[in-house]
Amino acid sequence: MDNTVNLYEITDGKFYRIDDLVDADTDGCVNCSACCYGVGDLVVLTPYDVYEISRYLDLSFDELCLDKIELRYHDKIILPHLKMLPGSEKCSFLSDEGWCGIHACRPSICRLFPLGRVYEDGDFKFFLQTNACIKPNLTPIRVADWIGIKNYDENKKFLLTWHQLLKALSFRLKFIRDDQELKNINAYLFDTFFRISDTDFYETFYSIMPEAKKILGII
Ligand code: SF4
Ligand code: SF4
Repeated sequence: MDNTVNLYEITDGKFYRIDDLVDADTDGCVNCSACCYGVGDLVVLTPYDVYEISRYLDLSFDELCLDKIELRYHDKIILPHLKMLPGSEKCSFLSDEGWCGIHACRPSICRLFPLGRVYEDGDFKFFLQTNACIKPNLTPIRVADWIGIKNYDENKKFLLTWHQLLKALSFRLKFIRDDQELKNINAYLFDTFFRISDTDFYETFYSIMPEAKKILGII
């Protein structure tokens, strides 16, 4: 996916590394769930997000697709996104009391907010979206503590690999005009990466990658 937004217009102009301090701490988002509305087109789920949510709720990918997540196009690639409820545009995981029902395994993009991630030169760094969180006076916190993901290094390696795969696939799909071929490629992507249920996600992800690249026609 291409980050074409001008970052200097929406950030404090700085980039952050995982051990840096950043003014992002919302102190538990007490009495607020403002950023859990109307974000269906923004919160794209990775295979790891889907794996974690599936296990946490004991629901298969297909069951999640019934009313929790929805499929949307990104260029010509179909990817799962959070589903917003019709009318209220409230995230389908947000409880009536305003709590995230999957907080322990919330998607990568939700973990970051109000931080964002920009990919560059085979790596990524973080930025702070100014005026994105409605709470005033956010306080300093280490990026690592804010994200709070387990096995950060392993997760980062996965995110970079997944990003690279989507970038290469997106380029390849530009040249495909046949609808059936596009449909087959997207179906393969889903079946291969979004239905991983083995105990070790990362091990399975890397074991299927070489064959998947061949079948998807990317290097
Ligand atoms: S808008 Fe800010 S304080 Fe409110 S839920 Fe989102 S991150 Fe938390
Ligand atoms: S998954 Fe949780 S944190 Fe993310 S938008 Fe939905 S309710 Fe909010």
